[in-house]
Amino acid sequence: MDIREYDVLTMKKPHPCGGLRWQVLRSGADFRLRCLGCGRCVEGPRGKFEKNIRRIERDGAEIAVSRTTRRQKTDEGDG
Ligand SMILES: [Zn+2]
Repeated sequence: MDIREYDVLTMKKPHPCGGLRWQVLRSGADFRLRCLGCGRCVEGPRGKFEKNIRRIERDGAEIAVSRTTRRQKTDEGDG
């Protein structure tokens, strides 16, 4: 999975604060992510986070997550 620093990840499971979106602070064997809901940082092995990724945004554009081939249309008003 192609994930770079400063990408914004939308997760399947929410953080306890309710936030679903995380900014990548460091990408590699271990990830360091910052919750955009509460600002808390977490670190952990890449595989653990990859399983939970629903979508990736880079420069405001959505990037296809290779593992999910199913296309979903969501009508979330995003601001
Ligand atoms: Zn949070």
